[in-house]
Amino acid sequence: MNEFELIARYFTRPPAAGSLVVAGVGDDCALLDLGERQLAVTTDLLLEGRHFARGADPEALGHKVLAVNLSDLAAAGSTPRCFFLALALPAADADWLAAFSRGLLALADRHGCTLAGGDTTRAPLIDTRPGPLTVCITALGEVPRGAAHTRAGARSGDDLYVSGALGDAALALAMRAGTCALDFVDAAAVQARLDRPEPRVALGIALRGVATSCMDVSDGLLGDLAHICARSQVGAVVSWSTVPRSPALQRQPVEAQQRCALAGGDDYELLFTAAPAARRRVLAAAREAGVAVSRIGSMVDGHAVQVTDEHGRALATPFAAYDHFAPPPAP
Ligand code: ADP
Ligand code: MG
Repeated sequence: MNEFELIARYFTRPPAAGSLVVAGVGDDCALLDLGERQLAVTTDLLLEGRHFARGADPEALGHKVLAVNLSDLAAAGSTPRCFFLALALPAADADWLAAFSRGLLALADRHGCTLAGGDTTRAPLIDTRPGPLTVCITALGEVPRGAAHTRAGARSGDDLYVSGALGDAALALAMRAGTCALDFVDAAAVQARLDRPEPRVALGIALRGVATSCMDVSDGLLGDLAHICARSQVGAVVSWSTVPRSPALQRQPVEAQQRCALAGGDDYELLFTAAPAARRRVLAAAREAGVAVSRIGSMVDGHAVQVTDEHGRALATPFAAYDHFAPPPAP
């Protein structure tokens, strides 16, 4: 059973009668109806040993845990309003807490997002070692009724776009694991992308009424695109040569570029579709938000995700999206 089968089987239910919830499991945010406005709500948890290493820079961690939640709010096209912070801490370390809260609140202040509550507990000792540091945020954004993006609105014939560049965070992880070497400048650039992702909030908002579907890329382009395809009941063709890659990634071997940009996680860019007639509006939205946007393919009939080379030939892309419950690779 993989992560998404598990959620579908045990944790997906229709909303209760009279519920404010008009969209639930399956999108980046749930949507709650409040008359003329809707609330977009998301929650994301970062766990030591799984999402970050013991001893990770606390200021960057504070930034990132809010950034990944704001990225989901951006995917829905909502304006961040407030968030809740739940912590399981191994110790009450003043220096750690000062740095963590500095990183967290600097990003919150930039987006006018109020810390409205939370929960704090001590992580237990496990075999005399402090249990894993766990940080969970629930974030709420606001969107005019009916204006939120979902993963379900893509149509065959739509253009497919992605913001920024893909694959840097995965490259930074590979570098930390010692499987690739980067010079000092490239290393700093990709580490910043892994540790301090910039949620594309302004772009998500600027795309209201323009994008037909939208999500954020957190588990790798191909796997995440498959979610748009499944929810929209369309297929997609991605042209590899148009997938945006940083200069640092372009200096890597092609195989590493493909693995990082097509299947690496932690990018937090927006992946979205729009009608070909909306190309100028997409460019205007990107300009307004100050974020680069690339047209990387199109949506087609069917349900498969295919990647093609510059001659239109299918590329073999044996990459799986990140799945927390995938079986371990064969030794
Ligand atoms: P994202 O990466 O955008 O945060 P996920 O891939 O984590 O989304 O989750 C996919 C969908 O499943 C989301 O709609 C999320 O709210 C939902 N989901 C994840 N875990 C659970 C759970 N334990 N119970 C109910 N819904 C869940
Ligand atoms: Mg998401």
